[in-house]
Amino acid sequence: MNVQQNYDKIKTELDTSIKKAGISTQPNVIAVTKYVTIDRANEAYDAGLRHFGENRVEGFLAKQNALPDDAVFHFIGTLQTRKVKEVINQVDYFHALDRLKLAKEIQKRAEHKVKCFVQVNVSEEESKQGITINEINDFIEAIKEYDNIEVVGLMTMAPLTGDVDYIRQLFNTLKEKQSEIQALNLSYAPCTELSMGMSNDYQLAAEAGASFVRIGTKLVGKEE
Ligand SMILES: *Cc1c(COP(=O)(O)O)cnc(C)c1O
Repeated sequence: MNVQQNYDKIKTELDTSIKKAGISTQPNVIAVTKYVTIDRANEAYDAGLRHFGENRVEGFLAKQNALPDDAVFHFIGTLQTRKVKEVINQVDYFHALDRLKLAKEIQKRAEHKVKCFVQVNVSEEESKQGITINEINDFIEAIKEYDNIEVVGLMTMAPLTGDVDYIRQLFNTLKEKQSEIQALNLSYAPCTELSMGMSNDYQLAAEAGASFVRIGTKLVGKEE
């Protein structure tokens, strides 16, 4: 299917999910273009997508250079500290703030405030990046001194499992935590956003109150 057809189907599904949950606005769809060509990313732009996600510095810069200026670019993957300077000033949203060393490097290299999501390993799988739910408050408190960082929200990746109830539970846990931080009204951490849901679980994420879903395979496909 082409991107337009995929996107239309996804929007219909998201609509069903939010209605089921009594939520009034659809999450923003980030087209994750890390597996596909610039042509395919342009096709996504033409289909109406304006948010794009990449997880490698090279791919990020290549897609950003190729797409029109009103495309919003999200860096969604683990970023090595030494690579921060190559990309941080090009990023509209950074989804993988998961350690203070990285925060410190962003502070040092950024020429303006960077919108960051704190990446949370809700399932506490060993293989996953991110801080645990219990560490979030202290982590955010420690970010306070870095005035080039704005914590706009929380981000997570659910494990690859068919256990829908478990995924739902993880997403609800993160939603609760996001609302809790938002209610603190911290100027450096408004935490109004929630980035969760990928090809396997975007409907569950929308139901749980995600404001950004990150979709690659089911939207633009996967070329190998
Ligand atoms: C690759 C990736 C996605 C998209 O994955 P799909 O399963 O292809 O939709 C979303 N978020 C992150 C952090 C990723 O690395």
